[in-house]
Amino acid sequence: MITSIEFKKEVLILAKEIGVEPREIHLRPMKRKWASCSSRGRLSFDKKLLNEPKEVRFKVILHELLHLKYPNHGRMFKTLLNTYFINLKKKIGSNDNGEIAEH
Ligand SMILES: [Zn+2]
Repeated sequence: MITSIEFKKEVLILAKEIGVEPREIHLRPMKRKWASCSSRGRLSFDKKLLNEPKEVRFKVILHELLHLKYPNHGRMFKTLLNTYFINLKKKIGSNDNGEIAEH
């Protein structure tokens, strides 16, 4: 399990890689989904994500960050999500605690 501060740090590291700037990052209990993103750049993530393995967090964070560039789930969105996921997984490894660390 990681802390909400560590989680937000991960979001900011990935945001920098993608080249987007989330206005606000919130962690709160959510019922039906992992995360949401408003058109004004406010990202909300489910607190349960703090207990999830890095790969799951990574994919959810990337998904929401990419919405700051592409609001829909079109073909472009899916292709980019996969590309970013594969590339950034290689580029940003994890330390012994399973946290995302910048290399
Ligand atoms: Zn989405």
